[in-house]
Amino acid sequence: MQLTRVALSNFRNYALLDLEPVAGLNVFVGQNAQGKSNLLEAIAMLGTGKSFRTNRDADLVREGLELAVVRGDAEIRAGIVHLGCTVAKSARSTRKTYTINGQGVRYARFLGSIRVVTFVPADLHLVGGPPTLRRALLNIALAQEDRTYYHELARYQKALQQKSAMLRGIVSFDPDLLAIYDHALVESGTVVMLARNHFVSELKREAERTHALWTKQAERLDVSYAPNVPFDAPTVEAVAGAFERRLRQVAEAERVRRTTLAGPHRDDLALTLDGHPLAAYGSQGQQRTAVLALKVAEYAVMRDRSNEAPLLLLDDVLSELDRERAAAFLAGIGEYAQAFVTATHLPDGLPGGASVFEIANATVRAC
Ligand code: ATP
Ligand code: MG
Repeated sequence: MQLTRVALSNFRNYALLDLEPVAGLNVFVGQNAQGKSNLLEAIAMLGTGKSFRTNRDADLVREGLELAVVRGDAEIRAGIVHLGCTVAKSARSTRKTYTINGQGVRYARFLGSIRVVTFVPADLHLVGGPPTLRRALLNIALAQEDRTYYHELARYQKALQQKSAMLRGIVSFDPDLLAIYDHALVESGTVVMLARNHFVSELKREAERTHALWTKQAERLDVSYAPNVPFDAPTVEAVAGAFERRLRQVAEAERVRRTTLAGPHRDDLALTLDGHPLAAYGSQGQQRTAVLALKVAEYAVMRDRSNEAPLLLLDDVLSELDRERAAAFLAGIGEYAQAFVTATHLPDGLPGGASVFEIANATVRAC
């Protein structure tokens, strides 16, 4: 897939931008605070419908104004698609709306119209940081390619919020209602766990293969799904049965501690190097190498599942990596259809044929 046009109005520091990216590698170079990350954030929103760095949509609207618009034209296998995302801010609330080919659509329909894989400096904490980061990797990848996953995850989170409010005493305790919430958690949680299990088995294969190549087989990375509720077999019956039993076991403790204790909202990815937990055992460099292998794997799995290369967005990461790792990363990605890379200086070792743009004060100029 390829983005052929991006148009912004009053998005972040951009008053107006109309850009025609090229196939292959697009490199955006500029000093700090000029609009490099903002541009990548806008492009990512065309895929995920959400910002990769804020949950506060109001921040996306240019200061002092009320309406931000991101538009993009993309060539996908099915043809040309025109995407739009509008953020309307008022004193009371902020609303985001989406269009495909000029027709208003719901978020769930917009999501994944084009697919993106992003790599931002915060991802360098994927190994050492909290499990939320690793769950986010799974959720963002899976939600873009599997509508059912997005739908069931949303349903799970809603039931979880309701259950949590009851356990915390925000709404009065009602055992019948609690049973209904638990039932919804098991139903949707089972779909989420099975999808994660399958995705991680593919991620594992790609990440371990790439890592072995880079370390010349000297180190062995192991990536596996660490579900909060273990199950014997990847079947609906086994997963739902295990989840139901676990919920019964923790029911008393959940009431006493006034919090939810079991389910995929506590899942993780287990990462080990030569059998030792990577976060506690690996050097900084080893952790970084593992992050790169995971990102290459995420890209490969998304590409192979849909048979179409997603857009690759790299915000300021090549400069964070030493020359060797940056080159290894780009080589690992191999054939990307289209990539967007930002940097404060032209990165070393860029493949030939890259198109370079300069960003200064929210203006983009081809060099
Ligand atoms: P760096 O190299 O430091 O990462 P950058 O080019 O990636 O810089 P951006 O994150 O894109 O910089 O931000 C560019 C500018 O946009 C910043 O000065 C930021 O304060 C500004 N900005 C962010 N949100 C808004 C907004 N809603 N309205 C106006 N300006 C904004
Ligand atoms: Mg930036």
